[in-house]
Amino acid sequence: MLPHTQNTYWHEFSEISKYNVQLNYFERLWAAWYAFIGNDVLATGIMSFLMHEIVYFGRSLPWMIIDRIPSLNKYKIQGQKVPSAKEQWDCAKLVLLSHFTVELPQIWFFHPLAQFFGLSTTVPFPSIFTMAYQIAIFFVLEDTWHYWTHRALHWGPLYKNIHKIHHQYSAPFGLAAEYASPIEVMILGLGTVSSPILWCAITKDLHILTMYIWIVLRLFQAIDAHSGYDFPWSLHHFLPFWAGADHHDTHHEKFIGNYSSSFRWWDYVLDTESGPEAAKRRRERKLASSKKAQ
Ligand SMILES: [Zn+2]
Ligand SMILES: [Zn+2]
Repeated sequence: MLPHTQNTYWHEFSEISKYNVQLNYFERLWAAWYAFIGNDVLATGIMSFLMHEIVYFGRSLPWMIIDRIPSLNKYKIQGQKVPSAKEQWDCAKLVLLSHFTVELPQIWFFHPLAQFFGLSTTVPFPSIFTMAYQIAIFFVLEDTWHYWTHRALHWGPLYKNIHKIHHQYSAPFGLAAEYASPIEVMILGLGTVSSPILWCAITKDLHILTMYIWIVLRLFQAIDAHSGYDFPWSLHHFLPFWAGADHHDTHHEKFIGNYSSSFRWWDYVLDTESGPEAAKRRRERKLASSKKAQ
């Protein structure tokens, strides 16, 4: 019998390193984790849940610090509304509750479901190029899902019973990204999780690492869109179709329009853009068409 001390993560890591010299360091760390846990569903579940918590709160923290730096207040979109510590704490409590009650079971079911559709968890990892183009597709798919479901959530009865909670903060902050009814977390979360599953079902080509990077980037997008800050170096100044905080902050302030998550094209094409500039464009168009009719 092996001595008990050998049954550790680092023991697995050194065993894997001995026989798989072709794998890089991260690939060996990854393979050792699955070997150490010995149960793929459990290994994916623990890793996914921890990753989500670390990224969510880790990414929100810099925004909480920025809120306490007066010289950065000039970049706040709704400058007069800086969230208080109590508001942030109340928000964090509800977010944590929904992480444990709604997201944890979803994360647990993800692995068997994705494996059924052919998701890979083994090493070596896919190339950077493969991961990049797949993630770009997920961004487009999720944004489409988000636009239509979010727009539907603004329909009277759905708004009153589900989406109103998310709109409690008319000037959002990073932590408020997932401050929402558990039903909403499930509906909108489905766009994030089912885009890769759909891709995997059709192409049979998806690695769980790609999925993780996608979720991390999507969390960054959601938290940053709620940050309440628009800097001169914010991404939408360089990529005009990127939504960013400027786009979603207006949604929280005005309650209508700007329904999509990552990109501006759905709101542009379907004329649901929010804010004074969009209202001005609409007025001008109306004026031009009434002149034409005369
Ligand atoms: Zn909304
Ligand atoms: Zn929001």
